[in-house]
Amino acid sequence: MAPAFHASLEHFNLGTNPGSPSRRDVVLPAEPGLSHACHVGGFYEQTLHQALDKHRAPQFLEEPGEYRRAACGKKVKALLPIEFSDQDPDACPACVAAVDADKSRAQHSKNDWPPACG
Ligand SMILES: [Zn+2]
Repeated sequence: MAPAFHASLEHFNLGTNPGSPSRRDVVLPAEPGLSHACHVGGFYEQTLHQALDKHRAPQFLEEPGEYRRAACGKKVKALLPIEFSDQDPDACPACVAAVDADKSRAQHSKNDWPPACG
């Protein structure tokens, strides 16, 4: 079962592919920065969940229309195949707070939270 919130990053890097220099390769940044909580919902939900679960590899959102919004409101461009953890030393504090709020809110209402991302 897919986690409710995926760990996600604000950036990815464009590297060059040695075998094919004209082609850009998308890679995780050397310094990923804060880990945000992104609820995968909406149009790409099925595709993203399947890709994340099947390949266990990060999914890069390369077009502005694909960017997702993290629980704290930041745009994220890379979804990681792991669940967001508030124990992560790089966890975004605003996302930790939002996920905490989500957990307590979920006891009251299961219908209107979390909002679809993006
Ligand atoms: Zn965040």
